[in-house]
Amino acid sequence: MGERDEVLDETDVLIVGGGVIGCATAYYFAREGGECLVIDRTDLNTEASGRNAGSLHVQLQSMVFKEDTETVILAREETLPLFMEAGRTWKQLDAELDDDFELSVEGGLMVAETEEQVRFMEQKLERERRQGIDVEILDQAQVQALAPYLSERIIAAEHCPHEGKLNPLLATLALARGAEAAGARIRRHTELLSLERDNQGFEARTDRGVIRARRVVNAAGPRTPAIAGMMGIDLPVNYKCIQGTITEPTAAVVKHLVYHADRILTFKQVGNGNLLIGGGWPAQFDPETGYPHVLRQSIESNMWVAMLIMPEVAHLRLIRCWAGVNLKTDGRPILGEAPGFPGFFNAVPADAGMTLGPVTGRLVAEMLWGKNATFDLSRFSIERFS
Ligand SMILES: Cc1cc2nc3c(=O)[nH]c(=O)nc-3n(C[C@H](O)[C@H](O)[C@H](O)COP(=O)(O)OP(=O)(O)OC[C@H]3O[C@@H](n4cnc5c(N)ncnc54)[C@H](O)[C@@H]3O)c2cc1C
Repeated sequence: MGERDEVLDETDVLIVGGGVIGCATAYYFAREGGECLVIDRTDLNTEASGRNAGSLHVQLQSMVFKEDTETVILAREETLPLFMEAGRTWKQLDAELDDDFELSVEGGLMVAETEEQVRFMEQKLERERRQGIDVEILDQAQVQALAPYLSERIIAAEHCPHEGKLNPLLATLALARGAEAAGARIRRHTELLSLERDNQGFEARTDRGVIRARRVVNAAGPRTPAIAGMMGIDLPVNYKCIQGTITEPTAAVVKHLVYHADRILTFKQVGNGNLLIGGGWPAQFDPETGYPHVLRQSIESNMWVAMLIMPEVAHLRLIRCWAGVNLKTDGRPILGEAPGFPGFFNAVPADAGMTLGPVTGRLVAEMLWGKNATFDLSRFSIERFS
């Protein structure tokens, strides 16, 4: 019997993946007295959850309208109430958890430089208001009064007061510590290699040994299709390699999450005063390492757009750039027990999975308890693809 065949551990719920989704699921499940074990092939928060731009979104991002089909845009539109709930959930966590993860909900501004972009925002606002989202268009004077750091090129902005930001290097780790304090266990550097079902549950073979579990939650981020594939389940998702950049600290001026109605841009200021600049500029996947790397052209373009919108950026040095893999669905999360595979749960957020992380974890934990979800989950079931 090899090392990998020895029984390493046993648990009720095995959560595969120590990103924001896995840690949030563990937190909410353990908090109600559930027994769970999180495993991660590397360390916690090393993939998308630690590499994102920390934007807490509510309003529809303009890139959705450029990149996606009308069906996906409609799905994102219908998911907006979940984004509102996501913001409330992060606020509750800020009050509940011991660690500060620099949450700030001072509103988001989608800025426009042309009349055409203003018209686009007005149409977008109609869609958002239909879903009960609190948004308004501000004129140039209102924008300058609210955000004097923005360029005078900005003629209007769509403002959503429920948007915000957090520090992605801290937030998932705060959830993980909360989960451990509630009784969840975590095994780092433990990679799931295969998964088999028997009449007692699952035999999860890892590079450290076998873990026996009654149920399994697939929260492996971009590797969720590979884990689902171990069960013979096809998880229809796409990937996008994107990058982010951070500047040296500057005097604290940017309270908002800022985006653009037509260009690829988000920026915000984190606790130390650094500006975190992103928005989804492409990075390149390296098949040799299995990780994406940043593209110089994307750094330059991202900075050019940022300088145009906030002139102060021209005076700041960049201190770090990084890339990550973002997983995209058909516009909705894929959540819950897979039909025909009792005990196997998928936990896949739509894009903007950092925003949706805790609310997704809470919904999955509720499903593990077999409780009535606080949200109508029928639209998020994998059954929609069958
Ligand atoms: C550059 C970038 C910027 C982004 N910006 C934002 C933003 O501003 N706002 C926002 O809301 N969202 C943003 N996102 C999206 C967001 O980061 C992700 O949707 C979210 O973090 C996904 O969390 P997750 O827990 O599902 O996945 P991950 O954080 O990727 O975690 C999955 C974990 O599973 C582990 N794992 C995988 N396979 C195995 C295995 N076989 N065995 C054990 N463990 C395994 C991995 O090691 C990893 O730690 C961004 C993404 C990127 C890449």
